[in-house]
Amino acid sequence: MIADSFGRVHDYLRISLTDNCNFRCFYCMPEEDYDFSPASRLMQPHEIMELAGTFVAQGVKKIRLTGGEPLVRKDAAAIISALGKLPVELVITTNGTRIAEMLPVMLEAGIRTVNISLDTLQPEKFKLITRRDVFHQVRSNIELLLHHKVKVKINMVVMKGLNDDEIKDFIDWTKHHPIQIRFIEFMPFSGNKWTSNKMFSLEEILASIAKDFTVLPVEGAAHDTAKSFLIPGHEGSFAIISTMTAPFCSSCNRMRLTADGKLKNCLFSDGETDLLTALRNGEPVLPLIQASIWSKKKELGGQLKTHFENLNAEDIKNRSMITIGG
Ligand code: SAM
Ligand code: SF4
Repeated sequence: MIADSFGRVHDYLRISLTDNCNFRCFYCMPEEDYDFSPASRLMQPHEIMELAGTFVAQGVKKIRLTGGEPLVRKDAAAIISALGKLPVELVITTNGTRIAEMLPVMLEAGIRTVNISLDTLQPEKFKLITRRDVFHQVRSNIELLLHHKVKVKINMVVMKGLNDDEIKDFIDWTKHHPIQIRFIEFMPFSGNKWTSNKMFSLEEILASIAKDFTVLPVEGAAHDTAKSFLIPGHEGSFAIISTMTAPFCSSCNRMRLTADGKLKNCLFSDGETDLLTALRNGEPVLPLIQASIWSKKKELGGQLKTHFENLNAEDIKNRSMITIGG
């Protein structure tokens, strides 16, 4: 069992397969020129398996693959197939571009839930946000997943003045589709141009939906990072990830392994533990994992202590989101 000093048991591991991506979402990547890590710095498939095996032996029940874009890694299929043999729930967060090619491998590996990032339903705005002209490809891949009865969750980062006017369109989408829209409060990371006035909060999201719909709260599961809601008569549902205004730290069970093999005990931790170097040196990694999680701070990595309106993103010590793995 892996636990922290506040008694939180950690049984959910998020593994970033790469810090590379075929999109350029401005809120995720640092502003300056960004060099992706060379392949030799990344965990190799056998190293991912060895580390994942250590976590699973300690009670990890769920593994999420993320990135960067996990499906752009050349050996993603081999890694997914190997991880599919572990006794865990395997899920993935992806920008959705490579689903058509990868779906057979994903299904074979037991992936039954896929989170797709989609911040707009407007092709032109999609191009503006991602700097790629593949809106229709992502939309048709979502349909493909639904056709194969895969549970689809749509991650939509809500940014004031950019896409907050589309919240109703996303809710309308749930009327006849069994999808869950996850509205995410915009979070500050190294170099991502976050300012408090671009944030659209849980309260604002709920108020904007309540103008047009009857909203019913849904009892969440123990470790949910999202508050879930239903709209009567809608096949799908929605949830809000309110890390900035109402964080979920008290029941956190998440650990993050970056693509270069560093363990982060919190999305906002300013430190990390190098598991890959230890593994390559033949040193035991379990004591490092236990010490890292034991030292986890109570909330938000011990950072972001003030109200979000008073936060200066430059004061936060962290990686960029693309190198953490969201
Ligand atoms: N490339 C994949 C994707 O886009 O789904 C996986 C990696 S991405 C870093 C994981 C999630 O983090 C995405 O849903 C993305 O929208 C979210 N994300 C990235 N930067 C964010 C930010 N500044 N605030 C909130 N969510 C963010
Ligand atoms: Fe790439 Fe996902 Fe980040 Fe967009 S949010 S740049 S798709 S890793």
